[in-house]
Amino acid sequence: MNFSSKIIFWYSLNKRDLPWRNTRDPYPIWLSEILLQQTRVAQGLPYFHNFLDNYPTLVALAKAPEEHVFRLWEGLGYYNRARNLLKTAKILAQKPYPHFPNTPEALRQLPGIGPYTAAAIAAFAFDYPSPAIDGNAIRVITRYLAIDHPPQKALGMEQIKLGLQKLFDPKQAALFNQALMDFGATLCTPKKPQCQLCPIAASCSAFALKSPEAFPKKLPKKPKKERHFTFLMLIYQQKVLLQQRSEKDIWAGLWQFPILSDSFLPDPKTQATKALPLKGELVKTLQLPPHLLSHQKIHANIQIWQLSEPPPIEGRWVPTNQTSRLGMPRLLTRFLENEQWQHLWLH
Ligand code: SF4
Repeated sequence: MNFSSKIIFWYSLNKRDLPWRNTRDPYPIWLSEILLQQTRVAQGLPYFHNFLDNYPTLVALAKAPEEHVFRLWEGLGYYNRARNLLKTAKILAQKPYPHFPNTPEALRQLPGIGPYTAAAIAAFAFDYPSPAIDGNAIRVITRYLAIDHPPQKALGMEQIKLGLQKLFDPKQAALFNQALMDFGATLCTPKKPQCQLCPIAASCSAFALKSPEAFPKKLPKKPKKERHFTFLMLIYQQKVLLQQRSEKDIWAGLWQFPILSDSFLPDPKTQATKALPLKGELVKTLQLPPHLLSHQKIHANIQIWQLSEPPPIEGRWVPTNQTSRLGMPRLLTRFLENEQWQHLWLH
């Protein structure tokens, strides 16, 4: 048996039972692929079901209010994915017969669909003969061929593509891609791969070198940027002022309290009363625990104000007990859900 037959046979015995595997309908397949970008399967599963319960078809999703899509997405991070989901649904729903294109090239024209996602949707929904190169495939192939260059470098990715092209079975595109993904996710794992159970160990170069975990090769790590926010929780007549974040930064499009300061330097020492004409009482200033994103470490404090007059700041006034209706960064929803502080704004 060659590489692909071994992997596919292994898959027939060990495959994970995932709901988007039991269909050829591109809508749930696409939804699952967008959800699983930067998200683990176990975390993404309830979101997948929740989305389908709320929006069972592409056309239904196209009519969804953006705020509700963000709300369903809350806790997953990388909110651009949610925005692109909606953009793609609207683009496709405008067609006389809304449907997904069936080639990777055409799929890539849609928002949020990169080379891997396009290849995966085309293979899973339409059996298009394209290898899908995700993190699992990269790990297996770099180990199997002992590829010496990081996959983030052009040379490393070129070698992965060439290697995978030779091992790929175009007649069983969907099966091969799914098999390789599950193989990487459950057997050839990032740490402690189970080489003793592996059907391709005899021809695996990293196994022969006794160093599977040395692949894929890594780029030197960059330290996370530290960022310091001061939020103003402005409460007036049991409503709180929220503003929508811009699309060009972290938490794109989510809602937050107005920001007094946003700095890569600690403690810019701005005083709310000096910077803004606020009329009322500063009830409390709270320092939140550091919040980790993929490339940034966020230090945030929140000034809680009970105002006697509305301030001259644009935004949306939302009842203090209904903030959960809008999509907000996890940092702020955690703060709002913390019962220790809720007496300061819920009466
Ligand atoms: S032998 Fe080990 S490193 Fe090589 S493919 Fe199998 S599980 Fe991965």
